[in-house]
Amino acid sequence: MASERPRFAFTVHATDGKARTGAIVMRRGTIRTPAFMPVGTAATVKAMKPEDVRATGADIILGNTYHLMLRPGAERVARLGGLHQFMRWDRPILTDSGGYQVMSLSELRKLTEEGVEFRSHIDGSKHMLSPERSMEIQRLLGSDIVMCFDECPRADRPMEEIEASMELSMRWAKRSRDAFDAGGKHAESSALFGIQQGALDENLRARSAQALRKIGFDGYAIGGLAVGEGQEAMFGVLDYAPGQLPEDAPRYLMGVGKPDDLVGAVERGVDMFDCVLPTRSGRNGQAFTWNGPLNLRNVRHAEDSGPLDERCTCPTCAKYSRAYLHHLQKSGEMLGAMLVTEHNLSFYQQLMQAMRDAIANGDFAHFADSFRRDYLATR
Ligand SMILES: [Zn+2]
Repeated sequence: MASERPRFAFTVHATDGKARTGAIVMRRGTIRTPAFMPVGTAATVKAMKPEDVRATGADIILGNTYHLMLRPGAERVARLGGLHQFMRWDRPILTDSGGYQVMSLSELRKLTEEGVEFRSHIDGSKHMLSPERSMEIQRLLGSDIVMCFDECPRADRPMEEIEASMELSMRWAKRSRDAFDAGGKHAESSALFGIQQGALDENLRARSAQALRKIGFDGYAIGGLAVGEGQEAMFGVLDYAPGQLPEDAPRYLMGVGKPDDLVGAVERGVDMFDCVLPTRSGRNGQAFTWNGPLNLRNVRHAEDSGPLDERCTCPTCAKYSRAYLHHLQKSGEMLGAMLVTEHNLSFYQQLMQAMRDAIANGDFAHFADSFRRDYLATR
């Protein structure tokens, strides 16, 4: 039954300006685009059961190679039947390559042409990540969308460093492609995405896109953004970067972002996103609403019997008051983190659905203006 579905088929159903809506069909399910992928770092979307993640409207989640290789270990996950079976999520999973987190989290890194040698931030044990090992780990996990192993330098590094790093990432992209293709059955049922680098430089981004197109991938990520450059600089890159990538493949903006980032990026032609923001904020008492983010710890919610968001259709908003959620946050109760995470993930999915509908109706510019008027209004 599952084998009748294509390995990977992306169709654009409608466009409106640069914005587009469509679907990626894969063996384990269909991903409606533009798509938001909740982050399941350590084989769990924190504070959420998988069935509840699905109920928010998520078609796909993200898993982190770096975290899973260190604990519980990719070989152990494979012995236990793979990541889907292990965590009980039967729909598509995208795994990152570990490249970004090895640079941001681990200790004593040694970067060479071969890969990155590092010590675990958990127990100090020594590990090596290379394009070949990253592909092997993502295969052991049973990932549906595999990401190339790349290096993401800080955008404020000297231009020569950013250029050298981009070129290294392109050589690693080719090695990732070759290692992925040698993966047998896994390669026949999953997809591989390349990652464009080049920081904030249009020419480097163009060269990176050209190198990736020459190798050929199922989808293309825009990497090296959301690393502290600010929304204006990010949108500056997104004004041209999606157009440098193939039109007939999904474009994935990694690690983004705030609701207004998502709207601005979809407006510029991006199809996929992931970000820890809705889950991490949910645990800290920050809730996203159509009228902007709000902090539930604020005393103004202490006796507010209304819901988090009048327009939200999630179970949290259907049942619980701001006053109760404020109390749970102030008391450090686990349920507070669970309920606000559920709301935030639901809100993100409702935002994606609203964008998909607006694009399909040829009404995206109006939707985006109206969204920004409400969301960014000074409160
Ligand atoms: Zn809600």
